[in-house]
Amino acid sequence: MTRRIAAFALITCLLTAAAVYAGQGLAMKCQAQPEKDPATGKTGKPCGYEAQVTFGGGMFFNQITGYCRACKKFVYIQWTRDGIPAQIKAIPRPVPLGEVWDASTGKVLTIHACPTCKGPFLEIKSPDELKYCPACNKPHFAIDKSKPEMAID
Ligand SMILES: [Zn+2]
Ligand SMILES: [Zn+2]
Repeated sequence: MTRRIAAFALITCLLTAAAVYAGQGLAMKCQAQPEKDPATGKTGKPCGYEAQVTFGGGMFFNQITGYCRACKKFVYIQWTRDGIPAQIKAIPRPVPLGEVWDASTGKVLTIHACPTCKGPFLEIKSPDELKYCPACNKPHFAIDKSKPEMAID
């Protein structure tokens, strides 16, 4: 268990009594249909990539969600909100790696450092922004409706 996860778990424990719904944990799955191989006519295997993805923070912490291409996993940056009780150790907001300007949309995108490999990732603000499957890069990544949604406190 890494120190970050341990700290997060501790905070989660401390807050259970005062739980309020703030974030959401979603079971997401690639819904892309397998393609037919034009040469053999055989249908390939479906991608089926699945991941538990959480969005939003809790009562006393903020969270940024993203996907690290180098680590091939969803990654999270957490820091404590202002005005947290004294028994909770404050975690400062990490400084982003930098900003880039996207000429095709005019948006300025903030790049964050992956907590594992320190490589760059972009924030995914909500499930609506998570359309493409990180494994096969097809636009069919969606909430798996057969699985329950978790509330993050
Ligand atoms: Zn990484
Ligand atoms: Zn996929």
